Amino acid sequence: MLNGKTALVTGSTSGIGLGIAEKLAAQGANIILNGFGDVEAPKASVASAGQAHGIKVGYHGADMSKPAEIEALFAYAQAEFGGVDILVNNAGIQHVSNVENFPVEKWDAIIAINLSSAFHTMRLAVPGMRAKNWGRIINLASAHGLVASAGKSAYVAAKHGLVGLTKSVALETATTGVTVNAICPGWVLTPLVQKQIDAKAANEGISLADAQKSLLGEKQPSLQFVTPGQLGDLAVFMCSPGADNVRGVAWNVDGGWVAQ
Ligand code: NAD
Repeated sequence: MLNGKTALVTGSTSGIGLGIAEKLAAQGANIILNGFGDVEAPKASVASAGQAHGIKVGYHGADMSKPAEIEALFAYAQAEFGGVDILVNNAGIQHVSNVENFPVEKWDAIIAINLSSAFHTMRLAVPGMRAKNWGRIINLASAHGLVASAGKSAYVAAKHGLVGLTKSVALETATTGVTVNAICPGWVLTPLVQKQIDAKAANEGISLADAQKSLLGEKQPSLQFVTPGQLGDLAVFMCSPGADNVRGVAWNVDGGWVAQ
């Protein structure tokens, strides 16, 4: 279905980004990976997901908090892949602390990576998508883009901002073949959430299994983690012709979190 398209998935060396990259690869899209840490294992798993289609897999290590590096990433995408057809803004970090103790550098990093990076990638991606009259932009917001939790001021501000940014650019492109939407996951068991489970177990003197149960019990009525593959399936749908008029939505996949 996506043969001949190129998908750039930011922050795709791990977790949700990797799961989405694998699902898009399985539909035949070429994939540009990005993110820190080991690159060879994610590259191999994405190549194997797209093997039947003979897809091309690339990687660029841009730090998504740095606009000049994001520009270098787009220059790479243009030179090696002829541009970006599907942009998945997924790179993100978390820090948990009350506002009065929130480290200023953490606030700046969360706003830069979780929000401003999507402004930069969109301003660079939209002209090429408009020229082809086809494009898909999928922003990984969060249930925290729709409702708040204590201790997550920067993250909640960035994710609410990302939902607003999604709507605004969706309106700017509404008469074109470019769609812009957000996915708002609840808890997904990735390294980002594992850190919060570890901290909860340590702070409350409980086992990791109990910390996991209590984390789900507080917010997610299904009591089950959402999986990266489920989010990848939604991203694939958003790239399909059936979603040509899905524009500016913030689609929660959250086990019922924001229905409460
Ligand atoms: P993760 O920690 O597993 O993966 C984050 C990815 O981003 C990694 O590949 C990492 O290398 C990359 N990254 C971090 N900082 C970067 C930077 N400066 N430049 C480039 N890459 C960078 O996290 P995840 O849970 O898979 O989260 C992915 C996205 O989904 C984030 O935007 C997160 O806020 C969002 N999200 C996660 C959950 C959850 O429960 N895990 C829920 C809702 C939303």
